[in-house]
Amino acid sequence: MAMKKKSHIAIFPSPGFSHLIPFVEFAKRLVLQHNNFHVTFIIPTDGPPSKATKAIVESLPTSIDSMFLPPVNFDGIAPGLQLFLTATRCLPSLRHVLESLVSKTHLSAFLTDMFGTDTLDVAKEFNISRFIFFPTPATALSLLMITPKLDETVCCEFRDLPEPVEIPGFIPIHGKDLPQPYQDRKSEMYKRLINLTKQLNQVEGIVVNTFTDMEYGAIKALQAQQGEPNSVISPPVYPIGPIIQTGLSGTEANGSECLTWLDNQPRGSVLYVSFGSRGTLSAEQLKVLALGLETSGQKFLWVVRRPNELPSAAHLNGQGDFDPSEVLPNGFLERTKGQGLVVASWAPQIEILRHGSTGGFLTHCGWNSTLEGVLFGKPLITWPLFAEQHMNAIMLVEVLKVALRPKANENGLVEREEIAKVVRDLIEGEEGKRLGQRMNDLKDAANRALSKDGSSTRVLSELASKWQNVEVPE
Ligand code: UDP
Repeated sequence: MAMKKKSHIAIFPSPGFSHLIPFVEFAKRLVLQHNNFHVTFIIPTDGPPSKATKAIVESLPTSIDSMFLPPVNFDGIAPGLQLFLTATRCLPSLRHVLESLVSKTHLSAFLTDMFGTDTLDVAKEFNISRFIFFPTPATALSLLMITPKLDETVCCEFRDLPEPVEIPGFIPIHGKDLPQPYQDRKSEMYKRLINLTKQLNQVEGIVVNTFTDMEYGAIKALQAQQGEPNSVISPPVYPIGPIIQTGLSGTEANGSECLTWLDNQPRGSVLYVSFGSRGTLSAEQLKVLALGLETSGQKFLWVVRRPNELPSAAHLNGQGDFDPSEVLPNGFLERTKGQGLVVASWAPQIEILRHGSTGGFLTHCGWNSTLEGVLFGKPLITWPLFAEQHMNAIMLVEVLKVALRPKANENGLVEREEIAKVVRDLIEGEEGKRLGQRMNDLKDAANRALSKDGSSTRVLSELASKWQNVEVPE
């Protein structure tokens, strides 16, 4: 009788909680749906892994192994660039690990993060099939498809372009709304991005955490390019999402306080306010946001970070205790005692979004937070800060129509009355109800994609059969 040997996949995520999560959930889905797989996570670090990262790794099923690479040094390097440089700096230790793995087992595939594409050369040395995982939207990938052409034909900064940029499968957008690395063409980040576009055709497939009903246009545009010899992205694209974190539940920082408080609030009454694992507001904007929430009269649960003039200044893992009263307006906490709950730095986002008392989500539009909002059917208020979040906000407000976006004044500050109005509109207004209904439809579509015969499940099976190892006699 013939028996299938287990297929072994090696995965290289980028450092940071929000990058590790979709990889882990992807691997869990793979081994759960296709029990013939074994996965090894090779995790880069820039210091001792955080508690949250360790908790994730310790909760992995037995068919998923993990190991941490020795820390790389990032002293003096900007956070955005750290993501790209991690891979470059840990190539020697990765080579060592892959060498040891291939001496013991047959690796069917090596899956690396979009920021870790320098690792592809090492996998190539060992003749391992290479794949990239995109934890960001397909629209960002579609933008990469036209980036070399844009780079060749545009002379100014993209934000100074008089005409909108036409991303295949998306609505035309202003250059200032392109992702962060596109905002400074002389920057190292932008150069890395151009380099990334040259690496995309070296792989056998690109896995994207999205689903067809959410990004129909971009996915179709990418699929239309498949196999085209002159395309920037000719490998097949696999939309396998939406994959969100499932592991932790209320045991995280501030967990029981948030959930107990929510238990005592009316259904759909609370706005959850959070800027992901890294997002930060300026000291002034943070105070105005506080006053806006207070003025709205609506209930809120707010994860407050220490302010910073840089929009992505929090540590990659978002943890770290401080006293929010140091940064909030005088008397705010006392005045809003019955109205809101403020927690420092971190909250159990999944549990909060799942909770029936949560009626909306003010988010920085990080892709994980966006997908989590969708899967729990919560209408959104968009507050994009960095990365591709401005593009995500446009998708949510103008394409999918499941979110409201407060307007900033000429200095970029979102004022108190504007915040109060948008919050009221979302939580108790007619517009909020319409957005909520559309978000529920999108949630149903997301669940259909993940169901037994859904599009994302079928795509994952297709990928799994590609990775499936040769049959060997018993
Ligand atoms: N998150 C959380 N609690 C917090 C803040 C964030 O659990 O207080 C999680 C959130 O659920 C999401 C991730 O951290 O899974 C943030 O990822 P996202 O892509 O939204 O933003 P990023 O952190 O990359 O900016």
